[in-house]
Amino acid sequence: MSTATSTQTSSTECPSTESSTTAADPVLTREEAIAILAGPDSELPELLKRAGALRRKYKGNRVSIHLLTNARSGNCSQNCAYCAQSCRSKADIETYKWVDDKKLYDDNEFVHDHHLARHCIGLSGMGFSDDEIRELADRIRVMKKQGTHLCCSIGFLTEKQALMLKEAGLDRINHNLNSSRSYYHNICTTHTFDQRVNNIKMLQRLGFEICSGGIIGMGESHADVVDMLLELREIAPQALPINFLLPIPGTPLEHTDTSGLTTEYCLKVLCLARLMVPQTDLRCAAGREVYFKGREGDLLRVVDSIFASGYLTAGGQGIKDTIQAIENAGYTYEIESDDREE
Ligand code: SF4
Repeated sequence: MSTATSTQTSSTECPSTESSTTAADPVLTREEAIAILAGPDSELPELLKRAGALRRKYKGNRVSIHLLTNARSGNCSQNCAYCAQSCRSKADIETYKWVDDKKLYDDNEFVHDHHLARHCIGLSGMGFSDDEIRELADRIRVMKKQGTHLCCSIGFLTEKQALMLKEAGLDRINHNLNSSRSYYHNICTTHTFDQRVNNIKMLQRLGFEICSGGIIGMGESHADVVDMLLELREIAPQALPINFLLPIPGTPLEHTDTSGLTTEYCLKVLCLARLMVPQTDLRCAAGREVYFKGREGDLLRVVDSIFASGYLTAGGQGIKDTIQAIENAGYTYEIESDDREE
């Protein structure tokens, strides 16, 4: 857990005044990266400036919004300590094998109609039968008719299953690393970190875009955060979501001390992610409304991607509020409609 202090810092800079850099991007060493996380909060304004320049260079003034539909919920055989859908969890959540088709397709239409960047579809569980993948592929075909960009958050796939989804038109797969290789056994023992890495490599070989990130605040050290980001730098995912732990009652992490997740520390993590994987779509996922409340301007100086309307079982902020927060901070939300049927 971070020991960052809570000295208040704030950004008074207009976001559009930040300059883009044309120099080669910095390549931080492990030691330099750890020092950034361990540094005093007084260094944050300068860090925001460095990360902000890279954000401007690769993402301009745009923020992309994603909508998440939880297509399969609960009853997962895995024991990820943070997760309400795990077999170890006693969290009071709704469980179902497939979300109602109407809800899935209505959400897809919402993404299309609001020109959101992507429809993310989360499925609990780590293993799927070929028949289940076939059912998912059928639904993907229906949704792709609207031209939406689709990402599935799904467990381990066989190559055959991944190809079935590819053939159906699935664009991207989310498979997070969640933590460092050496810390992973503390949060999950039913599968390994390397299984996750190997799954991602197989998906990349088949031509999928990859979304892969992690969770901050599960008791890991600064070095663990950096080691996870170094792995992600190797993977070079198209999108990198960072979640800040929201301890869910009924999960093994329900009593986790999150006092180290000050806004300043969370911003340092995001700045570091931008410095280490500068071209990725950097997303602030779970925890945004809690840890960045009132600091959306600083947040958007670094990240270019956020979710709207819920994170699986933890709740989220509605689309109108999300767009308002983006505009209030001086950014525009990205309309990705080029390949859409209008
Ligand atoms: S994170 Fe995924 S694999 Fe882990 S328990 Fe939750 S649903 Fe299962």
